[in-house]
Amino acid sequence: MQYISTRATGNGGEKRTFSQILLEGLAPDGGLYMPVSYPSVSEQELDAWRSLSYAGLAFEILKKFADDIPEADLRALTEKTYTAEVYKNVRPGDDAAVITPLRTLEDKDGKKLMLMGLSNGPTLAFKDMAMQMLGSLFEYELKRQDTELNILGATSGDTGSAAEYAMRGRKGIRVFMLSPYQKMSAFQTAQMFSLQDPNIFNIAVKGVFDDCQDIVKAVSNDLAFKARQKIGTVNSINWARVVAQVVYYFRAYLMATGNSRQKVSFTVPSGNFGNICAGHIARMMGLPIDRLVVATNENDVLDEFFRTGVYRVRGSAETLHTSSPSMDISKASNFERFIYDLLGRDSQRVAQLFRQIEVKGSFDLSGRPGSDGDEFAKVGQFGFESGKSTHADRIQTIRFVEKAFGITIDTHTADGVKVAREHQQADVPMIVLETAQAAKFNETINEALGRDADRPAGFEHLEELPQRFTLMPVDAAEVKQYIAEKTGL
Ligand SMILES: *Cc1c(COP(=O)(O)O)cnc(C)c1O
Repeated sequence: MQYISTRATGNGGEKRTFSQILLEGLAPDGGLYMPVSYPSVSEQELDAWRSLSYAGLAFEILKKFADDIPEADLRALTEKTYTAEVYKNVRPGDDAAVITPLRTLEDKDGKKLMLMGLSNGPTLAFKDMAMQMLGSLFEYELKRQDTELNILGATSGDTGSAAEYAMRGRKGIRVFMLSPYQKMSAFQTAQMFSLQDPNIFNIAVKGVFDDCQDIVKAVSNDLAFKARQKIGTVNSINWARVVAQVVYYFRAYLMATGNSRQKVSFTVPSGNFGNICAGHIARMMGLPIDRLVVATNENDVLDEFFRTGVYRVRGSAETLHTSSPSMDISKASNFERFIYDLLGRDSQRVAQLFRQIEVKGSFDLSGRPGSDGDEFAKVGQFGFESGKSTHADRIQTIRFVEKAFGITIDTHTADGVKVAREHQQADVPMIVLETAQAAKFNETINEALGRDADRPAGFEHLEELPQRFTLMPVDAAEVKQYIAEKTGL
């Protein structure tokens, strides 16, 4: 399998292999990597996968994309990653060995509403599903290249902790994670700062999240420093992360159906469009997905696009702080991958439209006079629909799900359930992806239910564990000095 940039010019641009793009973010031309074509999965193959374990299925799917890794090695990596021990934080009664438990919430008048649990990993959010695999792949590839990697990132919560838990104790990898001092929830802070692994470095910056991001940019823009210190990232545009997420769409489908002619739909709480992009790829591979429903919170740039054909990004001043904070995103970093397919893989137009985003902040594919194209008319062919949920909807949905189905869902999943219920169809199961556990967003659970969310075993006294972090001013030079000191490079 070869990969190409969404903005490749000339006769297709330079093609690369999976291992070559594994440790990278953006392509050098500013585009995102995509496979030159999607591998297709036949009905027979799909049926043959019904008896596989999660790790077995992950191997079958990943080997189609990572064909330059020897199969025996890839199998060992998937077996080591997807274990009941790593994904043990399931609801009482659920079997951790299935990795992604699927629950039927409602089955009425031919309408079936299901919930797939993707947040049973170490940080209680779905990002563990891909990030743990990325950790295994990184460690493998760094060993093969006989080199090391120092991951530098900024976080306001979920991504940073998922990265740290995926990389802790791995050979050849250090993580330097910047977070705004005293601005994360007590739970999130404790999750990250209680890690005692010597390869994890938490840097609490006396500023806000944007200051942390600016420091990361400043450090990364010093190319000599970046090269000497072997600095890399684990952001959401990393291709391996996207592809590891494709696996659970297949898993959900196989668990929800009895034969491979049936169809299912998915609703996905969305922010950077990484999760649902994996659903799009699964559908392009031939998985019988009817609809892919994008659920947003009040930050609704994606809902706006899927309703109108206008993609208008917003700045941080226009981005609201909501009670589903991991979806507070107004520029969806993976959206370019879908637009590339929607435009028939015309990389010149993709490059032009996303350069226009930088200048003008929007593009319009509605086909109206003066618009930038008419491809919005084709969105339906890709199965996409969308909806939006607000704080009041979240509260109401958390209450409803507790009362009707006896389980507590988190705020992001509540956005998903709210939108899913508006898009259900008879005879097509609707699967909502559960992207986090309620315990992570206890403040809103308290507001909705008047009590605390249950915590999985082992998390009861998280905030009391000793914490380890370094406090720093908003100063890139000081961060650089700290990194150099710790790496010895
Ligand atoms: C990251 C995250 C999302 C958004 O996922 P994208 O891939 O950015 O669309 C939704 N819910 C939770 C809990 C998350 O952590």
